[in-house]
Amino acid sequence: MVIGSAPACANCSAELDPEWKFCIHCGTPVPERESIPGAIRPDAAPRAPLNRLTIVALIVGVVGGIPAIITGHLALRQLRTSGERGIELARVATLLGYVWLLAYLLLAGFIAVNAIDV
Ligand SMILES: [Zn+2]
Repeated sequence: MVIGSAPACANCSAELDPEWKFCIHCGTPVPERESIPGAIRPDAAPRAPLNRLTIVALIVGVVGGIPAIITGHLALRQLRTSGERGIELARVATLLGYVWLLAYLLLAGFIAVNAIDV
């Protein structure tokens, strides 16, 4: 007996290719075989969906300011309980919001100081 040899169809006993999901001879679904070493199973561990508010926060974060900070914090709050992906992105979006806010404040201060000087 050769380990890893092609399995046979449960319905028609035809030899099955490991790649097949169905027997091409009779259409019987091929049962999932978890024990194949080195088998590539990209769908074995489905990834959690990306938090939608995180995407919004990132988009708003490009222009920055208070809306990015608000959406970023809301996304972070949702991510603590939802089990969704995107906490790193939400942190980046929130940070972007603060960086932009600081830039705006510096710019506003700069303009104000120059306005006083004139
Ligand atoms: Zn078959």
